[in-house]
Amino acid sequence: MLIDAPSPLLDSGDVRDLFVRALAAARDWHAGCPVQREFAPWPEDLTYIPRESAQVPGLAHLVNDPGAASDRSRALKDAILAIAPFAEWRLTYTEDEVGADFLQRFGWFELAGPEGHFLTTQARITVGFWGANLYYPRHQHEPEELYTVVSGTGLFHADGAPDRLLGPGETRLHVANQPHAMTTTDTPILTLVYWRGAGLADPPRMTAA
Ligand code: ZN
Repeated sequence: MLIDAPSPLLDSGDVRDLFVRALAAARDWHAGCPVQREFAPWPEDLTYIPRESAQVPGLAHLVNDPGAASDRSRALKDAILAIAPFAEWRLTYTEDEVGADFLQRFGWFELAGPEGHFLTTQARITVGFWGANLYYPRHQHEPEELYTVVSGTGLFHADGAPDRLLGPGETRLHVANQPHAMTTTDTPILTLVYWRGAGLADPPRMTAA
């Protein structure tokens, strides 16, 4: 039985405060991890813009079970859960690409980037969630990417690199157009993901077989 996500009854100022707190938690997360700091500096040009919330079926799964956090990742996990009902969630992929079950238990939103919730031209920082026992098929994109695991675990695959099972606080780098994929096992996974370089507003594309 899934717990319903809290209904968005807060006024816009309260929602803004939740997003500002989540951004601060993400900044602390970034500041506390040398790999993240080396990947890219924290953006200096962040501006909050109100965006219409958009919910996806995966949100209820996230609220019900975001996966286990570590002592260090708990603050960010909680801050993401606080904004989750108000975020502009997206699915992007089609059922042909990822399957129907995937679309029921997956979702992502842009915390900061070309479209907001915080506008910046310097990076794209997204939150991604996958339920347990899902396969995220091989895909690629031009921007370089650093995955950070906030809660739960996932088995990360990338062409030219060994598979790695990653948990809270661990990271995975994908270079430009390096095909990659992910499998969740018996737990979901919640991630904060950075992009840098050209094509920040472009969607990933499935890698040709
Ligand atoms: Zn990627």
